[in-house]
Amino acid sequence: MLAEVIAIGDELTSGQRLDTNSQWLSRELGVLGIPVGYHTTVCDTLEAGREAFAAAARRTQVVVATGGLGPTADDLTRDVLAAMAGVPLVCCERSLAEVEARFSRRGMPMPESNHRQACFPEGSRPIANPTGTAPGIDLVFPAGADWGRGLGSRVVALPGVPAEMRRMWQKTVGPQLARLAGGTRVLAHRRLKCFGAGESAIEAMLPGLIERGRDPTVGITAHEATITLRISAWAADASGCQGKITATEQLIRDALGDLVYGEEDDEVEDAVLAAVTLAGETVATIEAGTAGRVAALLAQAAARCPAGKSSSYRGGRVVGELPVAPEALFAAAAATAAEQEASVGLAVGPLRPSGERQAVDIAITYAGHREIHEHHLGGGDIALARAAKTAVNMVRRTVATARPSG
Ligand code: ATP
Repeated sequence: MLAEVIAIGDELTSGQRLDTNSQWLSRELGVLGIPVGYHTTVCDTLEAGREAFAAAARRTQVVVATGGLGPTADDLTRDVLAAMAGVPLVCCERSLAEVEARFSRRGMPMPESNHRQACFPEGSRPIANPTGTAPGIDLVFPAGADWGRGLGSRVVALPGVPAEMRRMWQKTVGPQLARLAGGTRVLAHRRLKCFGAGESAIEAMLPGLIERGRDPTVGITAHEATITLRISAWAADASGCQGKITATEQLIRDALGDLVYGEEDDEVEDAVLAAVTLAGETVATIEAGTAGRVAALLAQAAARCPAGKSSSYRGGRVVGELPVAPEALFAAAAATAAEQEASVGLAVGPLRPSGERQAVDIAITYAGHREIHEHHLGGGDIALARAAKTAVNMVRRTVATARPSG
């Protein structure tokens, strides 16, 4: 059984709004054991809607759509579905009473246009919407329809408003589709976050893991120098998935060591402050070449620290100039740590030419331990962001490996 998710709305195709509904629905379908083969995003016209649903029904057995169920003239999902099923739109008295009741609870008369929201393709079932006015639509496209091959697909149309859509999914649609899927297999994911090596270097350290057809699968993506490894496993139930995922996760952690800094949505700077706090240490920074990016990363991570926990980031200075010589950079790191009464000092020197590009030196002092790293900037807009992440990541690795002995 394969599914397609269709997101409907000019707002989406014009780029004004990001389609997050498809992401959410695909994860939910995966959990039910229904893999999603296609995402389609389509504008608010009858023709585009018909083409999208026809294509989806030709290639999948379950089609979940969001958007276009509102009361206005450009909300055409119900018209598209009725036209494709070859049936008229008919008013559902019960849904009409619910829509009217919702308005009267707010002390307002129901506008005429909202009548449309109680109209459904004949033969379809309304899906109750406990938090909004637009009910959803549940219907089956008949096999052998005169468009396409018409394989016969279950079609569920939900409102575009994410909170309404999620509630209706959890209450009604999800449990129904779970029964349809027979609950035979479920899908689960875990993401491991890595920093400190490039995508291809990490791939080379994981021979055989990032291969099509492996079970569980391991996918790799890079964003601003952070590498995400996504482990996905199918099994009969959630604990079966977790067992498979944990075994693969262990292989990855053994191969990558401290290149893995966290999981799921963790950012490298969050992992840095967590490591510094765990070690009972504090950190202060001074930077020239990264122009405040190091301080911004750590200050944002400190702001995200759970309430009540005092942050281990003492603060940072952003300066126009710092000396290039390593001894002077160590001195700056130590001085800023002393000034802020922190145990770890981090100094990022000025940008300097290095071959055809630029480099920056990052110095760290910690309980008698000193280390300096020459970071070569790549091209593109993210070069400085990457340098700043490299600098804060040095703090994490240093407090983990160079703990004072006594
Ligand atoms: P309504 O009754 O609110 O008109 P609707 O089904 O017609 O419901 P839309 O008008 O298509 O829904 O979208 C309503 C709002 O929901 C949009 O303005 C947008 O904020 C949000 N939205 C719609 N589709 C998506 C989507 N795919 N991802 C994220 N948000 C969405």
